[in-house]
Amino acid sequence: MEYRFLGKTGLKVSRLCFGTLTMAPMQQNLSPEEGARLLIHAREKGVNFLDTADLYDNYPHIRRALAVAPDYIISTKAYCYDEKTAREALERAYRGLGQDYVHLFMLHEQESLYTLRGHEEALNYLVRQKELGHIGAVGVSTHFAGCVKAAARFPQIEVVHPLINIEGIGIQDGPRELMEQNIRFVRDNGRGIFAMKPLGGGHLIASSAEAMGYLRDAEWADSIAAGMQSFEEIDANVAFFENAPDAMERMEKLHGKKRRIIVQDYCEGCGRCAARCRQGAISIVDGQSHIDQDKCVFCGYCAKACPQVCIKVV
Ligand code: SF4
Ligand code: SF4
Repeated sequence: MEYRFLGKTGLKVSRLCFGTLTMAPMQQNLSPEEGARLLIHAREKGVNFLDTADLYDNYPHIRRALAVAPDYIISTKAYCYDEKTAREALERAYRGLGQDYVHLFMLHEQESLYTLRGHEEALNYLVRQKELGHIGAVGVSTHFAGCVKAAARFPQIEVVHPLINIEGIGIQDGPRELMEQNIRFVRDNGRGIFAMKPLGGGHLIASSAEAMGYLRDAEWADSIAAGMQSFEEIDANVAFFENAPDAMERMEKLHGKKRRIIVQDYCEGCGRCAARCRQGAISIVDGQSHIDQDKCVFCGYCAKACPQVCIKVV
């Protein structure tokens, strides 16, 4: 496994980052024990970096894994906009993970220069926590190319976690080329980059080797967060990142199953899921939620927003 420094943070991370959304209740809903076993296996294979979020509800899984693999580098993120919300999110992370230190803490799903300005109080709070030794680095995650570029204006932001994949699926404000250009710009300005959604949330499964290869071979990506939900998937991804001779075939074979999102028929049509979806994939038709599978990136965020628990990514 190759390791690279994440920008100037001093964090030396594996190129393959364990994206833990897939094990969360809103996706595969693995038990903390099952999730921890996968994380420990990945650590044994050389993956030393994992990504989670306040939203994912999987701190218990990670906490269990840390008891066996304490040297994981942890990235988490939350929807914070001021000091209070940032402090509360950070405290939830410490409590949930059973740690008094988080390597990387990011503002989740930032959209633009204006969002970043509006959330600067939270950023400044996180920087103070860093100075006090409670956080290793501060960053932002985003699906917007414009936001990636805007991040360069904020010295507080050391890491950018952008959505990018070979087809540009899920990028909100332009093609893949624009996102890549802005990533290069912010990286040249000294920020660390770890990419998300290499398979477009599942749409690129049929050409997963080509899609994953695009990011693996990108010199501008310090690390790539890939969701993994089985031992076989971890082994295939690790082999792929280590350029094993049969890695391409294993990758294609493994990803034979296409993902889907389903809405149960007891949906009450309240529209909260549609309001939550940044991809514009949900509409309410005849009093029920309908999801356009072609627009969906299978993030599962709508599932979290549903009070009736009737959405599931399978
Ligand atoms: S949030 Fe749940 S109940 Fe409301 S419209 Fe969406 S799926 Fe239906
Ligand atoms: S429909 Fe749900 S899972 Fe799909 S992109 Fe929208 S929020 Fe994410």
